[in-house]
Amino acid sequence: THSHDDDAEPGRVRVAVRLRPRNAEDLLSDADFADCVELQPELKRLKLRKNNWSSESYRFDEVFTESASQRRVYEVVAKPVVESVLNGYNGTVMAYGQTGTGKTYTLGRLGKDDASERGIMVRAFEDIIANISPASDTVEVSYLQLYMESIQDLLAPEKINIPIVEDPKTGKVLLPGAALVKIRDLDHFLQLLQTGETNRHAANTNMNMESSRSHAILMVYVRRSVLEKEANDISSQDEDTRSDLPGGHGIPTVRKSKLLIVDLAGSERLDKSGSEGYLVEEAKFINLSLSSLGKCINALAENSPHIPTRDSKLTRLLRDSFGGSARTSLIITIGPSSRHHAETTSTIMFGQRAM
Ligand code: ADP
Ligand code: MG
Repeated sequence: THSHDDDAEPGRVRVAVRLRPRNAEDLLSDADFADCVELQPELKRLKLRKNNWSSESYRFDEVFTESASQRRVYEVVAKPVVESVLNGYNGTVMAYGQTGTGKTYTLGRLGKDDASERGIMVRAFEDIIANISPASDTVEVSYLQLYMESIQDLLAPEKINIPIVEDPKTGKVLLPGAALVKIRDLDHFLQLLQTGETNRHAANTNMNMESSRSHAILMVYVRRSVLEKEANDISSQDEDTRSDLPGGHGIPTVRKSKLLIVDLAGSERLDKSGSEGYLVEEAKFINLSLSSLGKCINALAENSPHIPTRDSKLTRLLRDSFGGSARTSLIITIGPSSRHHAETTSTIMFGQRAM
């Protein structure tokens, strides 16, 4: 029943797994160097060790070993989503995994000293800016943090409880009050990501919270002027700007779409960390958002007509960037160490829900 043909299952979430290289801590603690996974990238398969004698095999849309480059991960996971955003559809790229396995490295790395290290956010922006016309098209960005079901603006940190509103006419998700910055060029974008990161760190230090407990959400709004002739070939999602004029020779029309890049909260079970009230509350909210995300991904995989996006703010935010004509890629990140066998197993199971 599991076809991997993209066209056959338009709404399905595409899932890639990425293995982080062994770090110093792994090297110190894994005396036997026994990895808990074995990757077979050419078969797009991952074997998860169950015990000394047996392993279970799982298939993904793509399997990245520890030597996969940032460039290749971008091209396989994110570029098709970016292309579809340039064509007027909404799209989402998300990273899910235990803290320390490479979500932020994969998505948010700025690569200031070494452009080859750049992550998906920067590469996506570069691709978008290279493919639009600077005279008539715009790229605008919002950058948010979602913590305990509250949305904070990382570009305007005084805004701490941004509502999610759904436009009753178009079904579009709106965030009234969130800063929306028109981006001039790559330097401006890098600056903005840096500002967001700095604000996130400051806010979280104030709240005595680690960044791994919140979701970071970058929203990139693309607005393009296209000729009606071309626009006719692709049905834009933006119904209020579609022109009904006949003929279609050089009549400009505006096409709007957005790309969401979501660095999810660490998927480790937080209830291990103790029983102080605050942590239990935090864990509850993280579990709520990640489990409702899992349910949505599952519903998409099963071609269900009902995607249960109402249960959490995370899924409400994703509502119009998810399913239908939107494209979604999920990258799950894991570490090699058998020390984290339980977390790695649960991450792999989360990814399998979409397959
Ligand atoms: P997360 O965001 O999931 O908590 P990070 O992205 O912060 O994890 O990664 C943890 C550490 O591992 C960082 O020091 C990061 O630079 C490093 N790291 C993660 N993935 C890779 C990779 N594929 N190659 C090299 N270093 C990596
Ligand atoms: Mg991180």
